Amino acid sequence: MRNEDDSSEPSALLERLTSTVIDCLATCKRAGSRIADSLTGEGEIESLSIPETQTTTIRGDTGWANRPPAVLECPRCGGEFDQHRAVDLIDCPYCVAEFSPEAVRDLEVVAMRCPRCHTDLDYGKRHPNVFEVPQWAHCEHCQYHWEFTHSF
Ligand SMILES: [Zn+2]
Ligand SMILES: [Zn+2]
Repeated sequence: MRNEDDSSEPSALLERLTSTVIDCLATCKRAGSRIADSLTGEGEIESLSIPETQTTTIRGDTGWANRPPAVLECPRCGGEFDQHRAVDLIDCPYCVAEFSPEAVRDLEVVAMRCPRCHTDLDYGKRHPNVFEVPQWAHCEHCQYHWEFTHSF
């Protein structure tokens, strides 16, 4: 009886140890393949982003000075009027309000127009808490793209 007990005890222990080792190996293998997957994923994204950047620089403008024409709302009378170029004096045609070009950040930009095909542009901000003016504009019609750079 004692012999049987002695022989069964270590074998049960060995079985537990073996299953622990197998579990551990399986976990390591899963973790390893996850890392490999994420590495290949990143590699693919990086290679795809290169041609995309090139197309945006070919068709479009960058910088505030090359901004597309904007429609502004007069803070005094609420009238909407064009400011064709960013360097133009902001002069409301409906009332006596006049603003320097830099004051555009205090005014509401209500629309931006494509300088190529005059379609209303999609536009928006990338950092709404930092900037009060649009930072990008895109034409769905002719694919014109404008991007604010950090050279205000
Ligand atoms: Zn006005
Ligand atoms: Zn356009």
